[in-house]
Formats: sequence, structure tokens, C-alpha cells
Amino acid sequence: MNYLSTRGHPDRKRFCEILLEGLAPDGGLYLPEQYPQIDTATLAKWRKLPYAELAFEILSLYIDDIPPADLKAICAKTYTAEVFGTDEIVPLRELEDGVYLEALSNGPTLAFKDMAMQLLGNLFEYELARRGAELNILGATSGDTGSAAEYAMRGKKGVRVFMTSPDGRMSPFQQAQMFSLQDANIHNIAITGVFDDCQDIVKAVSNDLAFKRKYRIGTVNSINWARLLAQVVYYFAGYFQATASNDKPVSFTVPSGNFGNVCAGHVARSMGLPIHTLVVATNENDVLDEFFRTGVYRVRAAVDTHETSSPSMDISKASNFERFVFDLVGRDPAKLRKLFVDDLGLNGSFDLSADPAFAQAAGRFGFRSGRSTHADRLATIRDTDKRFATLVDPHTADGLKAAREQLTPGVPMVVLETALPIKFAATLVEALGEEPARPKKFEGIEALPKRVVKLPADAEAVKAFIAENCD
Ligand SMILES: *Cc1c(COP(=O)(O)O)cnc(C)c1O
Repeated sequence: MNYLSTRGHPDRKRFCEILLEGLAPDGGLYLPEQYPQIDTATLAKWRKLPYAELAFEILSLYIDDIPPADLKAICAKTYTAEVFGTDEIVPLRELEDGVYLEALSNGPTLAFKDMAMQLLGNLFEYELARRGAELNILGATSGDTGSAAEYAMRGKKGVRVFMTSPDGRMSPFQQAQMFSLQDANIHNIAITGVFDDCQDIVKAVSNDLAFKRKYRIGTVNSINWARLLAQVVYYFAGYFQATASNDKPVSFTVPSGNFGNVCAGHVARSMGLPIHTLVVATNENDVLDEFFRTGVYRVRAAVDTHETSSPSMDISKASNFERFVFDLVGRDPAKLRKLFVDDLGLNGSFDLSADPAFAQAAGRFGFRSGRSTHADRLATIRDTDKRFATLVDPHTADGLKAAREQLTPGVPMVVLETALPIKFAATLVEALGEEPARPKKFEGIEALPKRVVKLPADAEAVKAFIAENCD
């Protein structure tokens, strides 16, 4: 399988070449040249497989530069009941007639990002050892991404993590999760500033090409194709659990921010998995909902980006969206460049409302969308507790609300549970008046010794810290 850039760069690359890279050289995103097609006989065979073997089957269609036995071992080592809590890895439970929750949040950091990041950690370790190379991952986090990356990379050979976060702005639970890690290869950097300052520092360091090369700086952000590919697997696993046979369609609702999770659903559907509808759920940061309703994609300014109670969906633009739009415009790189380079560069928006391609978003590609407010989240959390004795986190609540607006009679609706409620305890307390129960392994983590340095919002200070810790 070869990979191309959405913006038309002539080079073609293989999986392990793009594994450690971010954007393509022309600023585009990597996609496979085509989506492998799954027939019903293959689906029938896959239905019986344990998760790690299903992951191997799907990954091996996209990865031909890791020997199959090695890839199989990497999958087996990643998706274990020990790490993810159950043999099913992503167990499905029925909430009400025809509406299911697929649990993606029972990994080490209690959010769905573990599903991909745990695999990425093992792939990185494997590939770096093979090359005899090292990588220093520099990131910015406001919560879920940073902790998922740290728990995936801790103790891995050849990898160090330098994770910046805005000092004092994450929830106490999230801070404790990250800062209590004592592994020598994990470095927490609390920046005196806000999340945007952290992102600016990462950009500034990455733009210093000499420094980037010397210290082998890389990232693990959500545009990484390997992360997206890992997420394709749980759409298949969810489908198999929600149906008794492979001729029945299923819909999925996905709490969305950077469009990585739901883009994996789009890939699964493009491979032939019988997905009826993909519902993109947003919060007040509704740039994606606006697009699917109107055909207008309008990037928000910082002042128009709201801080909400589902913070992992607080985005001004959706960094994976270019992948879907590439397929939507018939994989025409010239048309894609006009939208993402010319129109976005000039106006901060593009308008496909009059383009026949836009009708295909809902038509051929099966997309719908929904939007929630803080009041909706509280109401959904209360209602789900009262009627089904089930606690959901605010992101999953955004999903449930949008799902109920898009039900099709006779078609199961699977809502992806993207985090556990304990990660966002303050909102649960606001809705229900009490703290959600905490898994045993996280009891008392706030009291553990913390490993973190405080630095000013200054890229030079961060560079100096990286240099000091790289020998
Ligand atoms: C990251 C995250 C999301 C958004 O996922 P995308 O892939 O960026 O769309 C939703 N919910 C939670 C809890 C997250 O951590």
C-alpha cells in the first residue's frame, strides 16, 4: 500500500516512512492510494476474531513494510485485557432500545485516545529499534492527548516525551495522571500561560529546522495516519457486537473535535463496512456541524472558540477534515488546494454549498451532524443517570444528544464513549451533585509525588530544557 498527499505532491510513500512524519512536504495529509474493499466472506471471518487479531487483519491491509509476524506480535502486545480492562477491549452495552454505548475509554488514561496511542507507542519502539534511531516527541496538551501519549511512550526505548501544558489549567485528575509518572523518558513542562501559548511553542520549536534535526523532534498529533488507522478497528468491532449478521446496517455517533475519530469511521465505511449514518457530534464549537448543515466551512478565531465543559472538543478548526474533503471532491488535489490553501488562506473559510459534491456528504458518504450546549450536556447526564443508571462523561453526552436526533427505525445506533466520567468530575458534580466513582488504580493519585518543571511561555526556554535532557 502506498500513501499520497491530499495536496497532490508527486511522491508516494510506504507506511513506516509516514509513521514518524507529520504533514506531507506540501502541507497536505497522507492517505492510502485506495481503500481496500472488504467482501462479505471476509466480514464473516472477521466477526469471530478477538480484537487483537481483528486489528492485525485490518492493519495488514495498510501496512506492507512490517513483516506480518512482527505486526501480529505488536497487535497482540497492544490490545490486552490487562491494558484495556476486558477481553472484548471495546465492549458494547445497550442503553435503550436500539441505542448502544461502545466503551473506548477503559485504557490507561480513561479516554479513547489510548486505543490508538497504545499502538503508536509499540509501533514507534519497533521502528526506531529497526532504524537504530531516537525520537523526541514534543507536544502541547490541554488534557487527554498528553496523558495518552505519555502512558503509551513511558519506558519505551528510543523515545522521549516533552509535553507542555498550561500551568494550573487542567483538571486536578488530569494533572495528577500526567505529573505522577516517574519514568525517566517522560518530561512534563507546565507553561506559565494558556493552551495556545503551548501550541505556539511547539510550532516555534518545530520551525527551527536546525534544532528539529539535531534533536530529532517529532509529534504524535491527531493527523498521524497510524492513529487514524488504529481507530478504524473499533468501528468493525462495534458493528459485530451490534448485529447478528453482516447484512444489517449500523449507524455511529462520534463526539468530534479534530475529526480524527469520525474520519476513521469514514474509512471503515469506505472499506465496505455496512455503516448507515455517521453522526458528527459537536459542542458549542460547531465548525463541523455548520459545515454539514450548510456546506460552509468557517474556521473560528481564537476569541470565537469557546471554553466548554466538553473541552477535548474545543477546536477552532478540525485538523483531519482535509482528509474527508479530499474524498468528497473526488480526490482532486487541485480542487482540494483551492479550498484549503486559496480559500482558507484568503478568507478563513470555504463554501461548497453550491457545489454538487456537497450533497454527497449526506448522500453517498452518509454524514449527519448535531450540536449541544452546556445545558444539553447536563440534561443528558441527568437523564441517562435517572433512566438507565448509567453515568456518561460530557463528551459522550454530546454524542448521545446528537444520536437521538438522528435515529433511523430498525438501524442500531452506536454512540462512541470517548472518556469516562471521572475525568470530568466537576461537570458530573454540577449535573448530579456527586462525584462519579473512581477506578481503584486511580485512588489517591492527586497525593502522589509530581514530576514536572515550570517554564515561562518562551520557546528558547523549552529548547534549552530539551537540550539538557537529551544526553
Ligand atoms: C480527543 C477527544 C475527542 C475528539 O476526538 P477527535 O478525534 O479530535 O474528533 C472527543 N472526546 C474526547 C474525550 C477526546 O479526548
